[in-house]
Amino acid sequence: MMKSSNLGYPRIGADREWKKALEAFWAGKLGEEELEQQLQELRLNHLRKQRDKGIDIIPVNDFSYYDHILDTATMFGIVPQRFSYNGGPVPLSVYYGIARGTKDAAASEMTKWFNTNYHYIVPELEGSVPVLTENKPLSAYREAKEKLGIEGKPVIVGPLTFLKLSKGYRQAEADVWLSRLLPLYEQILQELANEGVQWVQIDEPILTTKLSSADVNRLQTIYATFAASVPNLNIMLQTYFESAEQYKEVIGLPVQGIGLDFVHGKSGNLSSIKALGFPENKVLGAGVIDGRGIWKSSLREKLELLEELSGFVNPERIVVQSSCSLLHVPVSVAYETKLSSELKDALAFADEKLDEIVLLTKAASRNLHEIPEEFQENERAYQTFKFSKNRKRDDIQQAIAAIADQQLERKSPFVSRNTVQQNKWQLPIFPTTTIGSFPQSAEVRKARQLWRKNEWTQEQYDDFIRKQIDIWIQLQEEIGLDVLVHGEFERTDMVEFFGEKLAGFAFTQNGWVQSYGSRCVKPPIIYGDVAFLNEMTVEETKYAQSLTERPVKGMLTGPITIMNWSFVREDIPREQIAYQLAYALRQEVEALERAGIGMIQVDEPAVREGLPLKEEEQAEYLAWAVKAFRLATCTVQDTTQIHTHMCYCEFHDMIHSIEAMDADVISIETSRSHGELIHSFEVNTYTKGIGLGVYDIHSPRVPGVEEMTSMIERALHVLDPKLFWINPDCGLKTRGLQETVASLKNMVEATQIARSNH
Ligand code: GLN
Ligand code: ZN
Repeated sequence: MMKSSNLGYPRIGADREWKKALEAFWAGKLGEEELEQQLQELRLNHLRKQRDKGIDIIPVNDFSYYDHILDTATMFGIVPQRFSYNGGPVPLSVYYGIARGTKDAAASEMTKWFNTNYHYIVPELEGSVPVLTENKPLSAYREAKEKLGIEGKPVIVGPLTFLKLSKGYRQAEADVWLSRLLPLYEQILQELANEGVQWVQIDEPILTTKLSSADVNRLQTIYATFAASVPNLNIMLQTYFESAEQYKEVIGLPVQGIGLDFVHGKSGNLSSIKALGFPENKVLGAGVIDGRGIWKSSLREKLELLEELSGFVNPERIVVQSSCSLLHVPVSVAYETKLSSELKDALAFADEKLDEIVLLTKAASRNLHEIPEEFQENERAYQTFKFSKNRKRDDIQQAIAAIADQQLERKSPFVSRNTVQQNKWQLPIFPTTTIGSFPQSAEVRKARQLWRKNEWTQEQYDDFIRKQIDIWIQLQEEIGLDVLVHGEFERTDMVEFFGEKLAGFAFTQNGWVQSYGSRCVKPPIIYGDVAFLNEMTVEETKYAQSLTERPVKGMLTGPITIMNWSFVREDIPREQIAYQLAYALRQEVEALERAGIGMIQVDEPAVREGLPLKEEEQAEYLAWAVKAFRLATCTVQDTTQIHTHMCYCEFHDMIHSIEAMDADVISIETSRSHGELIHSFEVNTYTKGIGLGVYDIHSPRVPGVEEMTSMIERALHVLDPKLFWINPDCGLKTRGLQETVASLKNMVEATQIARSNH
């Protein structure tokens, strides 16, 4: 008999109850006790659901009040010194302070969780003395057992992954930090063992990346230590998002189970198993159901895969599971009422994936050679969608094929363009601008709802949007910004907005996933060939420009970002999807230019997260990502200034690609990483216009002038003043009006100080 398991369940709830509770708490509308109570209810519901669906091994401690890495850090009492904390369990106020910033202390850096769009809070080790403040996995285990009689599987972020994702220490101190953390992990595991816990899942996704030999040694030390101190606890060492890089070392570790990803790391893991076998005394966590994608699996194909695995591992020791936590997919397809049946039938979100796991486990346990009856419906839906004619457009495929070997270059190189643009725009040194969006107040959201529900006519809604643009053009002039934007009031989301206007996209009503903290996104689904239909942004941009003498920057989302923030089809390569998107966006860029818009920003914040985890695959991805950006932007006149924007990125290893995108100006996020990114763009490596994010927009805190001046000064040590722009870190959509105006005024003041110093 095979067993079924899950690696983690979405926190947000079917109706985003989680988000609502957190935000109500932050707004002071919900007390701490009520918050605890609401979250517990949600958590127990999720456990109940997994049990009722028939999952054998159910994860606990996968739930969080914000982020599981932050949970791990605070569990170890790792709190940056700028927050006042005096030991013991970390109070919720401090916990949320680290995540979101307080009026006195900046938030910790937040960055992308491997190649996903989930963001975690980066632990800052410096100055902390790790102690175990509470055993969170144990509390979660007890709760499940006492309240529901569920024998849960506590999930913990593994020591190596935790250490590698943390900052605030030098490489040479890694072992010292490990020796501080290891006893705490041991204590957690011992307490779990004493409690009678059967299995723990220790997540080490870092094992899918290339490790140094020192890290491999650390890995061996860690698991040897655990084997010695908790010999009778079963550890499932869990990897995901790719194949295990050090397969040989990983299977040699003294753990009882190893979880491998057979979706995103399928070929690598399969060939490792074939070449090196799988240890007889270990359990294989076979991640065969995609924990990240939204598509229904072909259960027939998955059964074949399990059969293949059974050639190497005794079926008794195979656990059928998701490839990674279901955190990355929406809760259930059941809430979708508007999708075509062909598409809806092709989807599987978290709940449907649990069903797939259970069906597959049952079938696999019966007889691996026979296709069970209950697979028929699955196979029919899968095949219907696979060969559907609604997904294909010959005109697009031909256009893309024709572009394949074109040069995709601007008319002149940057140096000449730069002079032409300087002459045209006559901007002061250190021009100021923003990233695009301005606060989407309750009023803006209300208006959109009324319009969506047809309670407002198109005309009423357009009027309303124009009024917002009026207000903000005036405010921007008053604040003293040099390059203005229309504010993006008509957009809910930077990807959804474009997807709704292009062919090839579908939208869910409730397909939310957590992006960072309480922020959820509802990625569109790219199910077919993408095509430009009508102008998407020209009206609003032209209107904004008609109100002012200053340049208004047009605002588009780039092809790679649209792709990486969507759920994409799997029947054609991602590269082709990117080109299709770029080709559609090029038509919008050209339309903006024709309408007299001379600066056009094509946002690409999500380039990084599509970067393959395997180093050997990265260059190829970056090459076509760059090509897609150029495809979208290269046809404009020299006078037209192409901007791009990126955030939450580590840039150092992709700086050449960013350079190759050949944008005239890039604006980047820097403040949340406390300025660490500036060096990536030093004069000798990056040679084009660069706008530095001088304040963190993810925090409600209004940054002081001095703080920003010093950020600017630090940057000017390494960057060319002639190419230097000043802007916030990112769009201001989620901020309030007052704080936004106050922050931008301070930013302009800081700019004036910098100008007078140079
Ligand atoms: N132009 C977008 C905005 O301002 C960019 C957002 C982003 O980088 N995530 O909202
Ligand atoms: Zn951004």
